[in-house]
Amino acid sequence: MHLLLIGSGGREHAMAWKLAQTPGVTRVSIAPGNPGMLHEDKLTPVAIEATDIESLLDFARNESVHLTIVGPEAPLVAGIVDTFTAQGLRIFGPQKSAAQLEGSKSFAKDFMARNNIPTASYATFSEVAPALEYIHEQGAPIVIKADGLAAGKGVVVAQTEAEACAAVESMLAGQFGEAGAQVVIEGFLAGEEASFIAVVSGRDAMALASSQDHKARDEGDLGPNTGGMGAYSPAPVVTDSVHQHVMRDIVQPTIDALVDEGMPFTGFLYVGLMIDEKNQARVVEYNVRLGDPETQPLMMRLQSDLLALLDHAVDGTLPDAQINWHAGSAIGIVMAAGEYPAGSSQGKPITGIEEAESNGECKVFQAGTRLEADQLVTAGGRVLCVTSAADSLAKAKAQAEAGASSISWDGCRYRRDIGHRAL
Ligand code: ATP
Repeated sequence: MHLLLIGSGGREHAMAWKLAQTPGVTRVSIAPGNPGMLHEDKLTPVAIEATDIESLLDFARNESVHLTIVGPEAPLVAGIVDTFTAQGLRIFGPQKSAAQLEGSKSFAKDFMARNNIPTASYATFSEVAPALEYIHEQGAPIVIKADGLAAGKGVVVAQTEAEACAAVESMLAGQFGEAGAQVVIEGFLAGEEASFIAVVSGRDAMALASSQDHKARDEGDLGPNTGGMGAYSPAPVVTDSVHQHVMRDIVQPTIDALVDEGMPFTGFLYVGLMIDEKNQARVVEYNVRLGDPETQPLMMRLQSDLLALLDHAVDGTLPDAQINWHAGSAIGIVMAAGEYPAGSSQGKPITGIEEAESNGECKVFQAGTRLEADQLVTAGGRVLCVTSAADSLAKAKAQAEAGASSISWDGCRYRRDIGHRAL
């Protein structure tokens, strides 16, 4: 069986690594992939961009691909699943209509409001004056979000009204282009965040293990927000009772409403949660794909067959699927450019990956890397993720940190406190 996976990040490296473990899979093509995949058994990067839907379609058809799996949100929001399905090709991911849950924050907020799904209060604006008036009415802290996709950077959690007003002004003045032509202003939610991801097929959902990301760049959760500096699984804040509450009050109502509103969902539904001190969960955001870096530790812990799970979802037989997890914990520590998140690192030689993996305790998933002649060099903000699993989170963390300490390039940085809430 030949699989096509779309994307090029650490999430896709981890998914491809796991998909290649399915007996019967002979090849996993990754479009466009990254150099970390070049030396792995069965993995082949192919030079097609993730949003070049026509070329991806030709490839899947000509290569008799068994299943196409979409990693990032951009091709989903652009409608890749609709195009493939119309041509009779099997693909895992939501259609364009349902992908708006991630593609437009105002769409997601309106959807939650009309379906009574717990989330923060909000209002949407495309003009500065009424937005500023709303901020002064509500007071701070308050959260300002660009409506469209901004790679995790279009959100300002403002501690003062002045900061909130400045964020609104710069977004509506074009800081994020079209993505910021509208802003959503949200009430501030206090609590602890967790990532709750389910495989969904129509009205059926099967939850993956819980996980927790670390959005802030610096230790102690300080500094600017990033796409994610590290993650671990499971997240103890998602107790059994929180899990049941989230499935009953958030995931099931969400997917039922999607069916009832004519946008049935197949794919990974990622619910970013804020869990308060009374263990009530509210939705911070929906994503319509796996999280990065949550995927890296999740793939390390997943013991059952990933492809079988996705095939069941696409075929409408999800209740027959099995999901088993490594009983301990897994962690992924992101190593990023010193310039990140404002900028990226380009062309700096990376050393030590082989050494980090040499004792078999760590797996390094690459993201912002490229090959210059035969030398691996930096090519992005988040460069790679050192991932490890063990019986305890403390041990997994120690193993991953030992791996990270042997990897370096000029200016690299990483957090030494990933998992601190659970330790
Ligand atoms: P990404 O796509 O990278 O996951 P995003 O750009 O879609 O992020 P959100 O997840 O909506 O943005 O917000 C980013 C972060 O801002 C959240 O993880 C959370 O830490 C914080 N945040 C967002 N909304 C709120 C809120 N209402 N109250 C408190 N914190 C919030």
